[in-house]
Amino acid sequence: MTEQHDSAEGIPVGISACLMGEQVRYNGGHKRSRYCLEVLAERFRFEPFCPELVAGLGVPRDPIRLVGAPGEEPRVVGTKDPSLDVTARLAEVSATFADQHRHLRGFILMKGSPSCGLERVKVYHANGMPSHSDSGAFVRALRRHFPELPLEEEARMNDAVLRENFITRVYAFDDWKRHVEADPSHHALLQFHSRQKYLLMAHHVEAYRELGRYLADAGNRPLDEAMGHYLGRFMAALARPATRKTHANALMHVFGYLKRALDSETKQDLLAAIDDYRQGHVHLAVPIRMINHYVKRHGSAYIRAQTYLDPHPYELGLRNAI
Ligand code: SF4
Repeated sequence: MTEQHDSAEGIPVGISACLMGEQVRYNGGHKRSRYCLEVLAERFRFEPFCPELVAGLGVPRDPIRLVGAPGEEPRVVGTKDPSLDVTARLAEVSATFADQHRHLRGFILMKGSPSCGLERVKVYHANGMPSHSDSGAFVRALRRHFPELPLEEEARMNDAVLRENFITRVYAFDDWKRHVEADPSHHALLQFHSRQKYLLMAHHVEAYRELGRYLADAGNRPLDEAMGHYLGRFMAALARPATRKTHANALMHVFGYLKRALDSETKQDLLAAIDDYRQGHVHLAVPIRMINHYVKRHGSAYIRAQTYLDPHPYELGLRNAI
């Protein structure tokens, strides 16, 4: 297990308060998430937040919805009483939250909410007819004020690829926070990139190349500028889920570091496992486990340090499902 997993207190992750079982929904109910409370809570230290409650809308409250035309920033108004316009209040509490929670490594959101919905939240015309869909008001503010923060909807985490992707991003961001942001230097930035290379390659090979070139002369740029540019591009690249094809490509690169140390039978076994995975016959955990076995014995310090080989706690079983 890598050092980044050892955070004794758990990794700080924000969550829509209703998902924690808090009775903060407009009707006094909640949307308790078993996966968050029973599985992820073992690793994450959740910080619940309900933007509507903090904006002063009580419980129970009149429901609100998004209203506007495509291309406009939607307004957030009462469903029954459209003169109740909470757009500015919600924007303000959301921006304040983002400013005061820079320590978070991710945020898990409640789907469909005009505040917390990540995407596909219904937007209505002023006459009440459905128009199009957008993100909730809180999510828009998080993207504006804290764009590198990994976001995901709890419901979308039923999808194994999206679940693994979100948790990978949380752990990568945690690594950044603890090892680059906590003690910034060009050296720390280069070290981070060095150990994240194959993870980045598996998600976005173009970003992997581009950031490699960028860092080649990052020493000539102000540190703040280099860190800001790198982090924005890195987190955006990781948000694109890796596929069987891109994972197989990254695995082949790791394999390239081992082949001189392995006999031909072992090499054939490893290549067969990578190919079985690429073709969908086995889960990612199979070739990763085999590669890790040989990396531990024959890998250089550089390849052993790759987060790609161990990006999140093994016990979560995330790579047994993709
Ligand atoms: S979805 Fe968001 S705004 Fe609505 S009750 Fe849950 S935490 Fe509050």
